[in-house]
Amino acid sequence: MARAAVALINLDALRHNLQRVREAAPGCHVMAIIKANGYGHGMVRVARALASADAFGVASIDEAIVLREAGIETPITLLEGFFEAQELALIQRYRLGVVIHHAAQLDILEAHPLSTPIPTWLKIDSGMHRLGFAPEKAQDAWRRLKACRWVANPIRLMTHLASADDRHSPQTLHQLECFNAVISGMEGERGIANSAGILGWPQTHADWVRPGIMLYGVSPFVDGAAVDDVQGCTNAAGAGDGMDAGGRATQGAVAGCAGAVDALKPVMTLTSKLISVNRFKKGDAIGYAASWVCPQDMPVGVVAIGYGDGYPRHAAPGTPVLVNGKRVPLIGRVSMDMVTVDLSSQPGAQIGDSVTLWGQGLPVEEVARCASTIPYQLLCGVTQRVRIVESGERYD
Ligand SMILES: *Cc1c(COP(=O)(O)O)cnc(C)c1O
Repeated sequence: MARAAVALINLDALRHNLQRVREAAPGCHVMAIIKANGYGHGMVRVARALASADAFGVASIDEAIVLREAGIETPITLLEGFFEAQELALIQRYRLGVVIHHAAQLDILEAHPLSTPIPTWLKIDSGMHRLGFAPEKAQDAWRRLKACRWVANPIRLMTHLASADDRHSPQTLHQLECFNAVISGMEGERGIANSAGILGWPQTHADWVRPGIMLYGVSPFVDGAAVDDVQGCTNAAGAGDGMDAGGRATQGAVAGCAGAVDALKPVMTLTSKLISVNRFKKGDAIGYAASWVCPQDMPVGVVAIGYGDGYPRHAAPGTPVLVNGKRVPLIGRVSMDMVTVDLSSQPGAQIGDSVTLWGQGLPVEEVARCASTIPYQLLCGVTQRVRIVESGERYD
């Protein structure tokens, strides 16, 4: 029999979530972000399901070429632009747009005349300090781009938010202020917001929004959605990326956007099956390093999923798993092909019974927290050997 690990991809949920983007940011153009294999959901599959997006954003030219070769005609933007001159010919051939974030790219662009103008975003560093022109360098970059005949006019203007996932952070408004000051006097459409900006900071909506994680039905906020009850797992306390050292409660932060977050539908449900059920005695140790010891006589189930499938090795004991739709706690270490669960609450569970690791009925936000990581990493990390099964209408 084929391996039991299956990722169910709900294409209707993808379209539903795009609709939520349009409602949250009315009138904005939507660049759907589908880098990293569509956040692990399959990039071409996601692009086909989201054919009504105004553009797609990807991380590199090879991703863009895969989309074009698959017949996707929607405008595509390379979010980090090009890295070397040889890419320019391909950018032209495949009709791609670029983000220009560094003077090194301007040097290349100026030295390589092209026959058709390429759609271009000028990226400003408004405070994240990753990619983009510093505020004092932006005017010069803008002038150089405008002087380049093979850059399409008007040039679009963008920045990226560092802390929009934390509704209490003052950084977002500082970035907004900085960006607006830098671009005053420059014509051209503007784009600022990622998912957290779309749902939490309406003042960042501008002309274009760039949703990623919310399209996949996942909360962009540090405290996630519906993750109040992470009582069980040992990693839960303070595991959130943005939880500050003092443990300042950012829970209230999500309150204003909770409705919008709740309206999202998870696109990926990672499932598998029980492949063994055994009874052990109090004191028996389970799994590698004998790190988990049975506190009583109990039934233990083995699920065919492991870090070889992308289930996080650092998921702590107590991480919730659904067996036949009901929560049971993970126990012992996650191994490459298997995890073990405590079936005390489900003594009738049998080999072949269905298991959900995240998705429908079990928010990936919660599992991420129990593994001291973020949902983005879990979704992107699902490996090749996990079978994909689609549901929902295949095309718009
Ligand atoms: C990945 C990315 C996004 C999407 O971010 P989410 O938090 O997933 O919504 C938006 N803009 C840029 C530039 C990105 O790299």
